[in-house]
Amino acid sequence: MSYDDHNIFAKILRGEIPSQTVKETEHTLAFKDIAPQAPHHVLVIPKGAYVTADDFAANASEAEIVDFWRTFGDIVAELGVAADGYRIISNAGRDGLQEVPHYHLHILAGRSMGPMLLKTD
Ligand code: AMP
Repeated sequence: MSYDDHNIFAKILRGEIPSQTVKETEHTLAFKDIAPQAPHHVLVIPKGAYVTADDFAANASEAEIVDFWRTFGDIVAELGVAADGYRIISNAGRDGLQEVPHYHLHILAGRSMGPMLLKTD
């Protein structure tokens, strides 16, 4: 799985394009989605060059993985959405309709998310 460092999240990480930072740690950056699909729509990304969730799981260091998931948990706590609930999504590859080939977790909250998937065929 090769990583294309021209992707838009790589540019955000390099500071080449702006983003609305929600939280930043040693290994992780979280920022607001530019086209929010819920009252809260935050993207959590590792700073390292990983394409998908499985790439991150297989190749990231334990420090990166712990940092990523602790940051996710901190954001949920800071948004105050744990009680009412939220949805996390990570699209991967062609069938997952992943648009940006840098691993990211969508945190969606603030309204009912509806059915998990819409049937499209
Ligand atoms: P995915 O289909 O899972 O790859 O989703 C990519 C997400 O990135 C979409 O929800 C986009 O709205 C979001 N996105 C694209 N460009 C930017 C950007 N410059 N800043 C913040 N979010 C972005």
